[in-house]
Amino acid sequence: MRFETLSVFPEVFAPYLDASIMGRAQRQGILEFEAYDLRDWTHDRHRTVDDAPFGGGQGMLMKPGPIFEAVRDISGRGGGRPHVVFFSPCGTRYDEGVAERLSHLDRVLLVCGRYEGMDERAYTLADETLSLGDYVLTGGELAALVVIDSVVRLLPGALGDDMSARDESFSDGLLEYAQYTRPADYDGLRVPEVLLSGDHERVREWRRQSAIRRTAAWRPDLLEGAGLTPQEWELARSVIEERRGGVDHGEE
Ligand code: SAH
Repeated sequence: MRFETLSVFPEVFAPYLDASIMGRAQRQGILEFEAYDLRDWTHDRHRTVDDAPFGGGQGMLMKPGPIFEAVRDISGRGGGRPHVVFFSPCGTRYDEGVAERLSHLDRVLLVCGRYEGMDERAYTLADETLSLGDYVLTGGELAALVVIDSVVRLLPGALGDDMSARDESFSDGLLEYAQYTRPADYDGLRVPEVLLSGDHERVREWRRQSAIRRTAAWRPDLLEGAGLTPQEWELARSVIEERRGGVDHGEE
């Protein structure tokens, strides 16, 4: 899969994307990456990409010209037209479902804003506009890295074993179950016995209940879409009730 970024800080991507799993994905050809510098599509000596907003107000806005020229130019370069994503706190909320959808595309261009954002007309170039959440970043570069990382780890082979990305938080509509590793007793903090039993069916049941408990405790908004059985709903409701009573029951 090919990801491209358009921004005024193209140098910030490589240190992250060349390391660890993203670095390996690039070496294996699972991820192809290119960072474009928006200033390459300016025509003045100062390579200006911003200007003051009409109507007054503080800060600077990104001018439409270089963005239009760059997106059109990049889109016309080989490899089929890219899916064009812009970033803004006003966009659709990014989540695992969007990551999953993007992971089926061949080529995605991520357009990163800076300053007070962009001239509104630039957004007409976007196939979609995404927000990471209800907070404001100084630029879209981190948002682009979050999208690339979360999409690439879904691509076959990226994690080294195809199953691991499909058995995590959100993959079945629930938060992930609690996990433990050695030692079984750390300073009196014990791992739940069932996990030491070697009984796979009981382990599977425990994990499902752990996931439901945690989701009911921390993200009850997710329960509705998680396809719970009537008994599982009972468990979820009892966790919610206990929390109302002031007992923290996120975990067994
Ligand atoms: N004035 C704008 C914020 C601009 S922040 C507003 O109030 O809506 C500058 C750039 O950072 C944005 O153009 C966008 O690319 C990026 N950015 C900021 N917050 C973001 C968020 N929550 N999600 C995704 N991108 C964000």
